[in-house]
Amino acid sequence: KVHVDGNDGKKKDGSGSGNNNGGSKKVQVEVPATIADSESGRTYNRLRLLGRGGFAKCFELRDTSTNVLFAGKVIPKTRVAKPAQREKIDREVALHRTLLHRHVVAFHHSFEDEQNIYIILENCNRKCLANIIRHRKSLTEPEVRYYLRQVAEGVRYLHRLQIVHRDLKLGNFFLTENMDVKIGDFGLATNVEEGEEKRRTICGTPNYIAPEVLQKKGHGFAADMWAMGCAIYTMLTGKPPFETATLKDTYARILDVQYVMPPRLVTSSKALLRALLCKDPLQRLTLDGVIEHGFLTKEFVPTRLPPTACTVEPKFP
Ligand code: ADP
Repeated sequence: KVHVDGNDGKKKDGSGSGNNNGGSKKVQVEVPATIADSESGRTYNRLRLLGRGGFAKCFELRDTSTNVLFAGKVIPKTRVAKPAQREKIDREVALHRTLLHRHVVAFHHSFEDEQNIYIILENCNRKCLANIIRHRKSLTEPEVRYYLRQVAEGVRYLHRLQIVHRDLKLGNFFLTENMDVKIGDFGLATNVEEGEEKRRTICGTPNYIAPEVLQKKGHGFAADMWAMGCAIYTMLTGKPPFETATLKDTYARILDVQYVMPPRLVTSSKALLRALLCKDPLQRLTLDGVIEHGFLTKEFVPTRLPPTACTVEPKFP
């Protein structure tokens, strides 16, 4: 399954509480109302459904002894019965648990019971940027600077650890109660080994696929920068840059770098998009280039956004 629509194409938001008797019976059957980790002795109350992914359902969980809220990804073992699927989850967990940064979803704990694998993560209860775009259609330039500064800091942390995320997209930029951005979903992420600069094999299809990845020339840090350019474009216009009716046409446009530059943007925004949506990965702007770019250093970047910005355009003084 390939998504090129920038909306991840998946997951309806969970509505209401997952633990009452109405609504989805499937939820009732699969995930207990109280989840216990027999090893650590911790128990969690299952609250509302936050979202669904390829394998996982994600619930708000409350630690019954501390009352702290977490996001819990619940993966039914039946969904990862094949060794390759299970290995993929184990790899994601092994990588994610080593990460600690202000702009990366914090990993707390993981365990399993007979039925499910549970991954306990920092609660990002304002969902993700894809969700905001769904409500708002597009964002103002100051807002995009606000989000991008935090995304870029998170990705800089990953790249410094030699980790390529490989699926940077609005659906993987999560938001906390305070409107802090956290990068999540390390399902396609990989540690670029010493001496081996690029990975040629990827399991899964990134949303914003770079030209060199389409041409099977490998998947390095620069592919993350291409995806970042696509994410910025989508926030500013409400549409992914290379969207067409078919995957084939989209891929042709990517290889031609054929997109419409939105006319109403300030010069630094256009310059940033051009520098990121650059076909040659060696010429493409790097992460330090983004952080030092006029878009983030010469223009107004709000230090905070009000939560109302999830649904209505904020007014800046
Ligand atoms: P999968 O790996 O199975 O595709 P995802 O990681 O995409 O699962 O998670 C599925 C959904 O769960 C996400 O789209 C989002 O709505 C929600 N989600 C995931 N992680 C969190 C989190 N830390 N906080 C809040 N919601 C989350």
